[in-house]
Amino acid sequence: MLGAIAGDIIGSIHEFGPPAPPGTPLVDPRSHYTDDTLLTLATMEALLEGADYASVYRRAWEAEPNQSWGARFQQWAREPGAAPYNSFGNGSAMRVSPIALWFQDRQQALEAAAASAAVTHDHPEGIKGAQATVDAIQQARDGRTGDAILAAVCERYGYETTPSLDALRASSRYNETCQGTVPPAIQVACQSASFEACMSTCLTLDADTDTLACIAGGVAEARFGVPDWAVELVQTRLGHEQWALVQRFYQEG
Ligand SMILES: [Mg+2]
Repeated sequence: MLGAIAGDIIGSIHEFGPPAPPGTPLVDPRSHYTDDTLLTLATMEALLEGADYASVYRRAWEAEPNQSWGARFQQWAREPGAAPYNSFGNGSAMRVSPIALWFQDRQQALEAAAASAAVTHDHPEGIKGAQATVDAIQQARDGRTGDAILAAVCERYGYETTPSLDALRASSRYNETCQGTVPPAIQVACQSASFEACMSTCLTLDADTDTLACIAGGVAEARFGVPDWAVELVQTRLGHEQWALVQRFYQEG
């Protein structure tokens, strides 16, 4: 969704860098979309066209093989018909947000989240990360408070959070797993007072920043909406056809 794509773009230039100081601008001329956006768009395509997840994810890689894809994902994408590789990387959670919007029903959404994850990330933590992300977005869509969403996600998925965002910042360490990225992403989205605040906090964590901000951005969109400047950021960074796909997804989803 737009919030997730905006998060990926905002986090892109901080992906391999140290945590950014508070007050770092969210919009930077160098910001760009990464694999998180391409796979989020692919999930939209799967839902709109009724295509299978494995095919759209492989096509996304084929279209831009020089993005910063995970090494094992690339290997999988290169080989038609390759089996899932038991991953619990955060890739299953960063591409899943459109499913939360597409399905009204929670159970259907959770099943679809599992299906989208399982083509590559069939480890239980990989499946869980996708489901927890969809669950949090749907709860936010349904108007639940940040505290209620966070408590429910921790209980249902066995995730642990820190007492505050300051504590989260202090304990954060770079981590590319679902279980190391999804809980802090949902915590930041649930404990921030606005979309902007959520994005700003994401940049200050020691993290896989684009993916953290992508997952948090999907939840923050459902809580607060996406501000105009962030919509504009997405529109200016995406190609014409990519932007048209997003528009179509919001019209039909
Ligand atoms: Mg990325």
